Amino acid sequence: MVPLFSPPLHRQRHQFVIDFIKRNKPKKVVDLGCNECTLLRRLKFHREIELLVGVDINSAAITKNMYELAPISTDYLMPSYDQLSIELYQGSVTQEDARLRGFDLVTSIELIEHLHLADVERFSQVLFGYMAPVSVIVSTPNSEFNPLLPGLTGFRHRDHKFEWTRAEFQSWALQVCLEHGYEVQFTGVGPAPPGQRERVGFCSQIGVFHRLGGRDAARLLPGDNAHEIFSYTLLYSIAYPSLRDNNILQRVLVSEVLYWAEQLKRGWLEEKTGEGEEASALCQTQGGGEERLSFLEEKQTGGEALKGPMEQRGRGTSECEEGEREEAFGTDCGGQQESYRQGRCVCVPLAKLWSCCPRVQALSGSVSHLSRFLLDDPLVRLTQDGSAVLVDDQEQDQEEEEEYDDLEDTGCTEASQCSLSAVQQEDWEADL
Ligand code: SAM
Repeated sequence: MVPLFSPPLHRQRHQFVIDFIKRNKPKKVVDLGCNECTLLRRLKFHREIELLVGVDINSAAITKNMYELAPISTDYLMPSYDQLSIELYQGSVTQEDARLRGFDLVTSIELIEHLHLADVERFSQVLFGYMAPVSVIVSTPNSEFNPLLPGLTGFRHRDHKFEWTRAEFQSWALQVCLEHGYEVQFTGVGPAPPGQRERVGFCSQIGVFHRLGGRDAARLLPGDNAHEIFSYTLLYSIAYPSLRDNNILQRVLVSEVLYWAEQLKRGWLEEKTGEGEEASALCQTQGGGEERLSFLEEKQTGGEALKGPMEQRGRGTSECEEGEREEAFGTDCGGQQESYRQGRCVCVPLAKLWSCCPRVQALSGSVSHLSRFLLDDPLVRLTQDGSAVLVDDQEQDQEEEEEYDDLEDTGCTEASQCSLSAVQQEDWEADL
């Protein structure tokens, strides 16, 4: 059979919701009658949403695909500042549950026609009177369109309890608005062929409801002091990793710092040993390719081309770029910029890390914040004054290990790494 609509009608209904969300940016969204979470799985990519909830009476339908709502590995590897929690409940829309109150948007897509007419009244009271969201989108079949559906006799689905004409739907919607303080606009998806549009209307009719008084009115929920009711069963709950969680921010920042401290150390060593004319560091270009960037050039460009192991998401701006120069260890964010040696380690100043790595800047905000983040982190070793990251010079370690192997029988076996000062190391070498 040739499909009547392209894209298919269910996709058009979901796209209608997505377009509404793009325009209105609701933070808390509930999908009633979420079935197999098809709409929710599309909505999870709209990160203006902070809380996404699905409710259905049929727990088997919910659980079928619910794990597809879970974060994927990139959500953990590249967390953003957005926050998203998802909750799925088994329950009936004819029953109240306090966890569903005060939302910005409730969607009810092809659900209402599955309720007995007596339950429609209860549903209207629960949705508009108790949940009282800022906006509601209700879609339901338009029975006037049915004669255009080839081979259809009776309702479009065996579980439908009724199918409304446009007048019946509009009469229900206007009554709800009157009772609960909403206004409504009527539209739909799946237009009739040209010439029949006026007479037949859309295949799926849609009412978009807005609470009178908008968000402010929605905060004054009727019966706010009423005893809290929890009639739904929580089936699934997940919080996406977010940089607003301090533990996650710390983990990401530390991994950036360790990565860039190593890169900067290598560049500095190459420069010191004069290896290659370019004394350079590898850095990724915007296009994902690689180019060699001279450390001297890099200093001039402020390291703009540098990208960390994580995607540079461009959040936050360097305070120095904005001209609000941050105090860093008594200086501006130029601070101590030159790496230096301490024992077997190279010390990479935090000020250098901060000014070279836009991602570190964006994540920490200032050199002093960066210092505070790193101070007690077990993965990062700082110099005693806390102004630089200590990075092992493995090449030197290797050279010395070879020397050490030769000298093993001298009885000199203790060699602590970065705890040795340069002076101590000289003494040690002199003793040998
Ligand atoms: N909204 C879904 C979509 O857009 O993909 C499709 C909904 S499906 C046609 C109707 C859903 O309503 C079913 O999953 C059914 O289990 C659910 N349902 C029926 N009566 C319900 C009730 N009283 N409370 C909650 N869900 C109900």
